[in-house]
Amino acid sequence: MKGTYTIVVRCKDASYSRFGSLGKARLEKGHYLYTGSALGQGAVSLENRIERHLRRQKRLWWHIDYLTSHPQCKVTGAVYVVSDNRLECKVNGSVSKELKVSPVLFKIGASDCNCDGHLLGPARRLSEYALMRRLESVYAKFGMPRSYVVNV
Ligand SMILES: [Zn+2]
Repeated sequence: MKGTYTIVVRCKDASYSRFGSLGKARLEKGHYLYTGSALGQGAVSLENRIERHLRRQKRLWWHIDYLTSHPQCKVTGAVYVVSDNRLECKVNGSVSKELKVSPVLFKIGASDCNCDGHLLGPARRLSEYALMRRLESVYAKFGMPRSYVVNV
């Protein structure tokens, strides 16, 4: 499958995280939202990309890898839409506006686009359930939203 996704990462306590060459950012307790797209097949397919985000042990390749392998944080779910189009910047913009969340650090996940960053948060006022429903409603503007929750 090809598509655009947002992963939800729950951080259980305030801490700091390094983000490679971008430096260090303070993390608050709450949920962070990272939006990307995977428009290839096989190893670079949507399902493999999301699966990679779920794995804690990995070579730290993308900026987001520092968060998904952070001891205080864990991926708890994903919302995605199957599409051949690169929708990540539009989706990221809508998520930011609708959920009132801002980039954690300038340019995370956005080194090849004009966005300020594709890692947004923290979202603190919504439960995980409500957050997933809100993300689905954002995704409904772009296609048929699909989601799954990771067993914690
Ligand atoms: Zn972008």
